Amino acid sequence: MIEAFPRSGGELCAEGVSLERIANTVGTPVYVYSASAIDAAYDAFDAAFAAVPHTICYAIKANMNLAVVRQLVERGAGIDVTSGGELFRALRAGGDPSRFVYSGVGKTDSEISDALAAGIKQFNVESRAELRRIDAVAGSRDVVAPIAFRVNPDVDPQTHPYISTGLKTSKFGIPIGEATIAYAEAKALEHVRVVGVDCHIGSQLTKVQPFADALEKVRDLVGELRDAGHVMEIIDVGGGLGVTYDDEVPPDAQQYADAVIAAVGDLDCEIVLEPGRSLLANAGVFVTRVLFEKQNEAKNFVVVDGAMSDLIRPALYDAYQRVEPVGQPRGGRNLVDVVGGVCESGDFLARERELPDLERGDLLAVRSAGAYGFAMASNYNGRRRAAEVMVRGDRFRVVRERETYQDTIRGEETPGEWIE
Ligand SMILES: *Cc1c(COP(=O)(O)O)cnc(C)c1O
Repeated sequence: MIEAFPRSGGELCAEGVSLERIANTVGTPVYVYSASAIDAAYDAFDAAFAAVPHTICYAIKANMNLAVVRQLVERGAGIDVTSGGELFRALRAGGDPSRFVYSGVGKTDSEISDALAAGIKQFNVESRAELRRIDAVAGSRDVVAPIAFRVNPDVDPQTHPYISTGLKTSKFGIPIGEATIAYAEAKALEHVRVVGVDCHIGSQLTKVQPFADALEKVRDLVGELRDAGHVMEIIDVGGGLGVTYDDEVPPDAQQYADAVIAAVGDLDCEIVLEPGRSLLANAGVFVTRVLFEKQNEAKNFVVVDGAMSDLIRPALYDAYQRVEPVGQPRGGRNLVDVVGGVCESGDFLARERELPDLERGDLLAVRSAGAYGFAMASNYNGRRRAAEVMVRGDRFRVVRERETYQDTIRGEETPGEWIE
């Protein structure tokens, strides 16, 4: 496999293209993705599950750029959507709705209706109240909605609390202990059809054990539900496989697949997978330019043109992402915080990092920025969202233009005439 972001002649590149060239052409800050790295990550997943019938439903929320989604769709991916907006994008990218699953705790009637119109593979139902809404909306369209309950197995994924979803205190899914009642209710409804069960316990998991523990519980449940006469064709095992940001050593796709297959591979079910981060995170970098250096009594700061509005993971989860100079590193070792220009002390991309000497105009690359990077960007502080670039081999293409100031005020009005 080719290295996605190699150093060539001391300069950091994306595949065969110098990041400096991209920055000089497109401007900064900019997200840069490696098409080959996305392909390789997808293929590794697909190959790892070759022994069982499976559908990889890319969790589009990780990176919803149409070019990224289309590339994965062309490679054979289905899609996991969590909103009407993601459904719209997934369709726009050419996805096949019969390979879409729809997760999320807050589906509205119109979103349910759109998903039914598209003809999706499965609704992952997160409450009995939602089940009744899906039944009602499907009834009004005179169709039958394929459903799986998202069950919450109450296992600790040992990850950041904001991205732990399978604990009893979480808003997600139905408690696994209530599943039999929920499935019985579904069976009695006319406009839903049970196809299987779903379970997603969290994100950035760096061990297989929590997956294995969760799936052991799902396995028992599938047995019980079959005994009760339910059709169980699909086990959706969710996403959540972690990646290396710093020195984590998460399971690779094969180790993960081995654990999944060991737990539920003999149940004669199709396995649905919802990876997001593990396909995209290390296929992207965020490139930003140094504006100023400043010192206060306690700290050295490198102020860059990227900020928390572009990349919020460090601020939101205190996440670590590697930072390195794009050009041949100069000498020197300085302990610095890399910060943006947003008016928040939480606006940092990296803290307490040792970096070589930097000068105004130097470029820095923030690694592992392909997932939950641009996807979580905002216009906070009136900032334009960054450009996105895809690289393949020695060529690159802008796949999303940098926003203009005009873009950032689209749809806003000063109240001339008030509506009654
Ligand atoms: C976020 C999410 C995923 C993807 O998680 P990753 O950690 O990015 O693999 C999959 N399924 C559901 C239901 C999610 O909410």
